[in-house]
Order: sequence, then structure tokens, then C-alpha cells
Amino acid sequence: MIITVDPEATEESVRTILEVAAQHPGITPRKYDYRGANTTVTEIHLIGPAEIIRTIPEKLFSELPGVRSVLRVSTRYRLIGRHGQKHQSPGFEYNGVAFDESRVHLFAGLCAVDTPENVGKVMSELAANGITTTRMGAYKPRTSPYDFQGLGKECLPWTFELAGKHGIKIVAMEVTNERQIEEIQDALRASGNATGVMLQVGTRNAQNFELLKQLGQQGTFPVLFKRGMGITLEESLNACEYIASEGNPQIVFCLRGVKTHLGDPHRNMVDFAHVPVVRRQTKLPVCVDPSHSVGRLDRAPDHLFDIFHVVGQGVICGASMVLVDFHPDPKTALCDGAQALRLEQLPLLVEYVNKVRAAYEDVCAAAART
Ligand code: PEP
Ligand code: MN
Repeated sequence: MIITVDPEATEESVRTILEVAAQHPGITPRKYDYRGANTTVTEIHLIGPAEIIRTIPEKLFSELPGVRSVLRVSTRYRLIGRHGQKHQSPGFEYNGVAFDESRVHLFAGLCAVDTPENVGKVMSELAANGITTTRMGAYKPRTSPYDFQGLGKECLPWTFELAGKHGIKIVAMEVTNERQIEEIQDALRASGNATGVMLQVGTRNAQNFELLKQLGQQGTFPVLFKRGMGITLEESLNACEYIASEGNPQIVFCLRGVKTHLGDPHRNMVDFAHVPVVRRQTKLPVCVDPSHSVGRLDRAPDHLFDIFHVVGQGVICGASMVLVDFHPDPKTALCDGAQALRLEQLPLLVEYVNKVRAAYEDVCAAAART
């Protein structure tokens, strides 16, 4: 059961709700604050055996002062879940960047960091286009042990320093274990917190529950959770819940295509039609990764790369974040060069994202009037 507290509720009202809940043996009430850029939502969750919760009448809480709504929750992903139309999705703010339903952020950058020159070129082009968010892979989990595994902690100092120099506020960076989280924390501190980092869970680690728990226990960084490529959406949502259940509500859920040969010739079957599904089922901002979905640089007869078209699909569906691979010289990239856009394509991509987002907002406004 989830009790949503009125924003104007007094501290005493909140205390009363907690006390009434605690009167039920076997039930632990827990308070959660979701702090978005525009609104903070406070919820009190009743934790305990379903058999006991079932016996607690909703009226017990709905008639208390300071209660906005009482919801009975049937999904297992209780914390990340959006339980009904009225359940709010406040999003979150990190390092001055707001993640919520009212905007979209382009995270354009290197799949894998290779040289300071390339990191500098990407970041200065981002700055020239007014973008403050990027992706930079330092730790690369690869299909083959003989492929480039990423530069690891060695590249963190200059990557963060360059980010600071170019006004980058968030770097999305994949991690596969706890040691890497500490390395990022240390390097960031040593850089004088020159930038911020969003820790990324790759599709291959979507069910690495120990990693997910560690990402949930650290309160420093938000997490970009990528859907598992070969599991159901429901399984991915339950896995993602591990992060929230360990205490970190700052999560973005990322769609990146799913593995099936029915998606050929694209690398994965693009699943961006699931953006509205994830938005309905969870209160998380949703990201799309067109680069790892499409995996190649073919142009359609209209001159646009398939990757652009797929960016459009994600944005027109209301994605809050887009993750795109770029490289100054894709043929020399050490990882995923075949899908990397050249920096010259960045201004057009920015224009495209803004235009599609504007079209999306127009049609949403029209839908709200019907
Ligand atoms: C990546 O974003 O660099 C990556 C490896 O993606 P995925 O986990 O979706 O394959
Ligand atoms: Mn990649």
C-alpha cells in the first residue's frame, strides 16, 4: 500500500500516518521523498506480508489529514512503479540537470574513451552546440576477451578535467563492479568535482543483482539502467527495482533494442514503442539508445541515417534522454565505430531532436484538449 502525502501536509500529519501504519503488527512503514526539479513527492509505503496488508482498510489512511491518495499496489516493482494515472512522476535533479517528463537531454559522446584529443574534440563540439551532457565509456564489457576493454581508471583524470573545461555537467559511464564506482568517485574528487557522472548498467549486467544493489547503496550518482537484451520487460523492471530498493531513487530506464534476428539488418530489434509502456508502468524518466539499437550507419532515401529515424521514434514517444555514439574519426574508433556518427552530424541531430520534441509537445497539448 502506498500513501501519497499532500505537498502541504504538516510534519505532524506525516508522523500520524507513520504511527497509524506502525500499529499493525508485521508492518513496517517507510517514507520516501522523490525530489524533482519542480516538485517533491512524499510517499509512505507499508511493507509487510500481502496477507496482512490486504486486511488494512484504505479508509484508515484516506481520512487522515495530509493524505492525498492511498494506492493498493499489485506490481512487484513497488518503488519504481507508477501505480495508476494519478501517480506522479517527479523525476530528479543531478548536478543542475533536471530529468523529468518535461524535457529531453542528448547524451552524445564516445562509446569508448581512447585519446585525450578525441575526448577534447567531442566535448568542444558539444559545448559549441550548447550541450552539457555526454557519454564516455572507460570500462567496456566486450563479447570477446580479445577486444579492447576500455582504458579504465587511467583515462578518468583527463576525461573529467576536459569535461570541466568544456562545461559538461554529466558524463554517462558504464560500470561493471564496485571497484570501478570507487575509482570514479576518487577521480572525480581529485578533479575537484569538475563534472558529474551518471553510472550506467549495461544490458549484459541488467540482472547482475549484486552490482544493482551496490548502485542502489551509493547515494552519490544517478543510475542509467539498460534493459536486458534477452529478458522480458517485466524482468528488466524487477531488476531495476533492486537499485531503488537499496535506497537510490535517481534512475533513468534505457531502451536499447532487444536481441532477435527478426531485427536484422539492424544490430538489435528497436523497441522504442515501449517508451510509453515504460512511462505508464514506472515513474522513471526513459532514455533511448539508438546507436546500440541500430548498430550501423545506413542512410535512408530521405538522406537521414537510420539512427536519426530511430532517435525520432524515441523522442516522439516522449523519451527524456537520448544516448548517441559519436567519434571524430569513426574508422579509428576502438569500439563500435560502425555506429558512431561524425561530429559534423551533431548540429543536425540537435536540430532534429528539438524539432521532434516540439512536435511531440504540440500533439500532447492537442491530446489533452480532447
Ligand atoms: C554502451 O552503451 O556502450 C553499451 C555497451 O551498451 P549496451 O549495454 O546497451 O550494449
Ligand atoms: Mn558500444
